[in-house]
Parts: sequence; structure tokens; C-alpha cells
Amino acid sequence: MSGNILIVEDEPKLASLLSDYLRASGFEPFCLSNGAEVVPWARAHKPDLILLDLMLPGRDGMEVCKDIRTFSHVPILMVTARIEEIDRLLGLELGGDDYICKPFSPREVIARVKAVLRRTRDGQTIQAKGLVLDGHRYRATLNGHDLELTAVEFKLLQFLVDNPGHIFGRQQLMDKIYPDERIVTDRTIDSHIKKLRRKIEAVGTQTKLIHSVYGVGYKFEPDSL
Ligand code: CA
Repeated sequence: MSGNILIVEDEPKLASLLSDYLRASGFEPFCLSNGAEVVPWARAHKPDLILLDLMLPGRDGMEVCKDIRTFSHVPILMVTARIEEIDRLLGLELGGDDYICKPFSPREVIARVKAVLRRTRDGQTIQAKGLVLDGHRYRATLNGHDLELTAVEFKLLQFLVDNPGHIFGRQQLMDKIYPDERIVTDRTIDSHIKKLRRKIEAVGTQTKLIHSVYGVGYKFEPDSL
């Protein structure tokens, strides 16, 4: 696998370690240490993936991520030093594609980088009547309207659409959306589903696409499209 990876990390040792590992895996890394430099650099160089530390001098990583999402679908792997922050970050819908917690092993980072790139590159377009899912860009449209989903909402919808009529429990959905078993609660899935529905309703669809099955979980019902 190849690609230009932007590493945003203010600890020089860590930046050079990541850089070495990425280069050894066939990638072309570039390092920035100041948050304020990231957006202009990303605009000018269009990296294939950004590894973004959240605690940065110059500008906060969360703001940087939000800003990048206004002009680019580049995969962003966010790096945080606090595991308990991940759930909160997901709720903020910053548009990150995955999250890594410090301390990490460089091997783990390489595996995550590859997984995110594979997911975004191999993503195919799924169509189910008016619904089009473009896994390359994590973009879902319904009758031509962009649903403006976050990466997590997109994955959730894609999984349900891939398995029409099948009922999934919250735990199954969580395993699917967060394969690394990070700590999330049942309510996380409920809240993603709620937002997903709200976005579907916002484009003017009267019918419900995602159905709750009381006491069990959720299913996608294509007949209702
Ligand atoms: Ca830092």
C-alpha cells in the first residue's frame, strides 16, 4: 500500500518514529508540529491520509479536523492521550474516520492507517432505490440530497443497508462500528441512530428507513423506501 501521509505531532521523537514506520511500510510521510500549519498544508498538498494529534501548539486538533472537513474528505485518524475522550469526540461529530489512543505501538498505527485507507479506497457505491452510498467519500444521498453523515453514521447506515431486513442488536452494531472494542455504551448506538434518522427526515422523506425492534435492536427495511 502507498500514499502520502501527513503526520501532525508535536512530540519530535514520536513524529520521527511514526515517520520511519510509515516509510518502511511503503508510505511517504510528511511531518508538521504546529496545528496552525495543517489546514494550509492539506489544501496545498492533498495528502491521502492525515494522522492528527489533538493536543497541539498553534491550533487545537479538533478545530483543525472540523476545518478540513469543510473542503476535503481526506481520511483523518485522530490521536488522543485520553481513552475516555473518544466517546465524547464521537459525539462531537468532528468528522474523524478513526481514533487512536496514546500510548500506542507504531505497528498498531500502521495497521489502522492501512485499514482506513482500504475502507475508503475499496468503498463501493450501494444503491437501494433513492439511496446511494458512496464508500469512497463516505457520502450518502437520498433522492439526490446529501445526508451529510459523519463517518460513524455512514458506517452504521452502510452496514444496515448491506443486510436489509436483518435485525441487529445494539451490541452487534457496536462491534461492527467499533471493531477495536473501545468503550462505548448502548446509548452511543441509540444516539447515532437518532441522528441518522433526523438527517434522513431532514431531506423530506416521510417513510422510516431504520426501524426499531422493541427490546431487540434495529433493522433497515428497503420496502419502506
Ligand atoms: Ca501533542
